Amino acid sequence: MTVPLIQPTAHGLYCAAGDFYIDPWRGVPRAVITHAHADHARSGSQCYWAARPGVGLLRHRLGRRARIEALAYGEPQAFGPVTVSLHPAGHVLGSAQVRVEYQGEVWVASGDYKRDFDPTCAAFEPVRCNTFITEATFALPVYRWPSAHAVAEAIDQWWRENAAAGRTSVLFSYALGKAQRLMAALAHDRPGAIYLHGAVAPLTALYRDAGIALPPAARVSDAPRAEDFRQSLIIAPPSAAGSTWMRRFRKPVTGFASGWMQIRGNRRRRGHDRGFVVSDHVDWPGLLQSITDSGASEVLTTHGKADELVRYLTEQGLRARPLATLYGDADDLSEDG
Ligand SMILES: [Zn+2]
Ligand SMILES: [Zn+2]
Repeated sequence: MTVPLIQPTAHGLYCAAGDFYIDPWRGVPRAVITHAHADHARSGSQCYWAARPGVGLLRHRLGRRARIEALAYGEPQAFGPVTVSLHPAGHVLGSAQVRVEYQGEVWVASGDYKRDFDPTCAAFEPVRCNTFITEATFALPVYRWPSAHAVAEAIDQWWRENAAAGRTSVLFSYALGKAQRLMAALAHDRPGAIYLHGAVAPLTALYRDAGIALPPAARVSDAPRAEDFRQSLIIAPPSAAGSTWMRRFRKPVTGFASGWMQIRGNRRRRGHDRGFVVSDHVDWPGLLQSITDSGASEVLTTHGKADELVRYLTEQGLRARPLATLYGDADDLSEDG
């Protein structure tokens, strides 16, 4: 049997023909990075390749001294006899699918991706391939995202109602990508100011630096002394929920924006007043569409419901198998979802 073009190793997904890794979880000589989330972009490698719009975020994650080579979307990069190019994944700013071509065979490692509208990053671009490596974070038929427009309206209305009652709206969301996407979707006519938790503010600044239009928002810690936040919307990471940081808001109303909010039980478990179904991962229909669009004859699955997806695809007559990786833990609701 010939060696697969990309295979899991102790250091991460490895392409032996081109001698590089994709999103390695240990330090390696050459790392091609799909996006700047912590489980995909780890420090310790000698050189990184990433899509240009995400380089600022990646540098924030990896530090000033990391060697990062920026690639335009679609720009070919040779690794020996292998040609690599990056294509928009629609997940977060600068997220990319990695297209790997060797002797006429094409593999695509899609990283994390979604098909829904998101004004803060380039839209997912279907790429034809023989083998498609897909995430399976939400690979169950129950996961079908409502329209981004409907969710944005629901958040606007929630904020207006809370502001009218003189109560602070605290919206918890993943700090990289989700927070900025939520900000971009807010109505222009707002009941009060937007403030950001200290973990969200620097990432938001990097989005602005990359030319993404976002409404004005200051750090909570930079608010004027007279600010009582009663008309404000605060955007904070899930880890801030229940922390002492929350004590500065009197009687806040809390909301949580995540794909996990599609499941009623999760809403109760998190103890938030409101759940909004917003995910930067592909939902079930989008996942099946993407597999069809890829034209792949073989599908390899990672993240979350990898085994369930393999079972479904196999029943449909596709060749599929799970790929062991160390990406995102779907059971941790505080994680990227
Ligand atoms: Zn991600
Ligand atoms: Zn991931």
